Amino acid sequence: LTSSSMSSGLHVIHIAAEMAPVAKVGGLGDVITGIGKALQKRGHLVEIILPKYDCMQYDRVQELRVLDVVVESYFDGRLFKNKVWVGTVEGLPVYFIEPHHPDKFFWRGEFYGERDDFKRFSFFSRAALELLLQAGKKPDIIHCHDWQTAFVAPLYWDLYAPKGLNSARICFTCHNFEYQGTAHASELASCGLDVQQLNRPDRMQDNSAHDRINPVKGAIVFSNIVTTVSPSYAQEVRTAEIICQCDGTLNRRSSRVREKEEESATKPGSEARDGGRGAHWCGWARRRRIGGKGLHSTLNFHSKKFVGILNGIDTDTWNPATDTFLKVQYNANDLQGKAENKVALRRHLALSFADARQPLIVLILGLSRISDAKLQILGDYNVGCITRLVPQKGVHLIRHAIYRTLELGGQFVLLGSSPVPHIQREFEGIANHFQNHDHIRLILKYDESLSHSIYAASDMFIIPSIFEPCGLTQMIAMRYGSIPITRKTGGLNDSVFDFDDDTIPLQFRNGYTFLNPDEQGLNSALDRAFNHYKNNPESWHQLVYKDMTMDWSWDSSALQYEELYAKSVARARATTIRA
Ligand code: ADP
Repeated sequence: LTSSSMSSGLHVIHIAAEMAPVAKVGGLGDVITGIGKALQKRGHLVEIILPKYDCMQYDRVQELRVLDVVVESYFDGRLFKNKVWVGTVEGLPVYFIEPHHPDKFFWRGEFYGERDDFKRFSFFSRAALELLLQAGKKPDIIHCHDWQTAFVAPLYWDLYAPKGLNSARICFTCHNFEYQGTAHASELASCGLDVQQLNRPDRMQDNSAHDRINPVKGAIVFSNIVTTVSPSYAQEVRTAEIICQCDGTLNRRSSRVREKEEESATKPGSEARDGGRGAHWCGWARRRRIGGKGLHSTLNFHSKKFVGILNGIDTDTWNPATDTFLKVQYNANDLQGKAENKVALRRHLALSFADARQPLIVLILGLSRISDAKLQILGDYNVGCITRLVPQKGVHLIRHAIYRTLELGGQFVLLGSSPVPHIQREFEGIANHFQNHDHIRLILKYDESLSHSIYAASDMFIIPSIFEPCGLTQMIAMRYGSIPITRKTGGLNDSVFDFDDDTIPLQFRNGYTFLNPDEQGLNSALDRAFNHYKNNPESWHQLVYKDMTMDWSWDSSALQYEELYAKSVARARATTIRA
């Protein structure tokens, strides 16, 4: 095993279920790579531990090799062998754990969404700690993410610190409180944790079902540092639940959303599974639970160690000036390339090039900060949307935005897929309906390359989330010169500021926002954006320039994590010296 190298910085180990680009489902994957690279750049030794999924993008791992040691880890009353692979992803050292378990935990062709996800990831969490112990590593920080690796926190303090893996402080980041991975309490025993000791209200017991174990709650209780991914979301999850009622009938004109405070009527166990992430949801056409999802009291009790830090984006990966997925690279000072990407995407998706109802818009770039002023022909506007199609994302509003964009004379391109069968079916219906339409295209799959092309080709980017812990697509969109239209919630509220809001200093106003998660709310923002685009192209161009030059890198967020880590490590050392 590779031994821990000496470094003047901290030694940080991330244990996670995703990492972009090798194993990415959503934002978690981007965050692991982004924060890892930023901390490494600041002089810290960063290592990552991932499951070795069969469906990973192996061509994005450099120098992958199997180590000639086998790590044995406990599960269900016996020891199992794990092969350990090591490689480099985006310049970061990564260990991949391949369990030799008859259930072939990570040979399923899927990252998440398996019936035994609780087993798969509790096994992985224990094997990761076993790897650290057997390798003799002495990390300063072990950073685990989301419910899949939340088991690390109780495992570390209950089993591994006593075995001698005791140099570390534990940091837990919850990227989305919707997904808590609860299971019947007895299931916890498989990874060797003591159910009797942990199925208690002040430990891992789920707050609403006393025979269930909640890994996220366990990580909140057992970690030294608990973070979530934006300051606004950190506030929201400390509040009691709000019920958001969404009538998502197929007739878009009759859809409406009401928000009111009341107790959740959803019973544990009667909830449907929200696809891959093992979460619960109560129907996109009925009630949406937002707020702390049952954990607000736990978070309030542990509020001293809980903080919200806005994610950044990996500005090397997401850079229109160097992006090799694009037809033409471009930058804020030369948007000709953006216009060419728009044409290329339209050609690729067989969309119309010129809309007879909507004259092409001619922009004259005469801005003081743009030296190379030239005529730009942007054409009628494109609205983009790239998302997992799950209730959280406001699927009824996404659907409404498609029709509204059409009414306003724009083109709409949606890239998304859904782990929820009836949502996938409904969007397939819409996709088929518009199959040969000149102005609408729905691509219902995961496609990394196409996502880059859509960011580059769109003028506006729609994110009408019911709740959004951080959201990365608004930041990526801005970097590619696409103006975000977002609902004011969570991380969207911390990164998108309404162009027309005089109470906000002008330099921060970078998009269009709305509060009420209903059609009127969305229309108010979309219509204003469209009017701005159509009626004041020069001002619109200034806005594009401003958004493209805003700093969404990990630099300031990584600094905040570094401070949290350093304080926690210093406190631990002070305690050790006093003892
Ligand atoms: P979440 O983590 O809730 O899915 P985020 O906004 O934090 O949402 O991150 C979404 C990430 O996943 C972005 O990088 C986005 O580009 C990407 N993404 C989402 N859906 C798709 C898709 N269908 N194809 C390609 N990339 C996608």
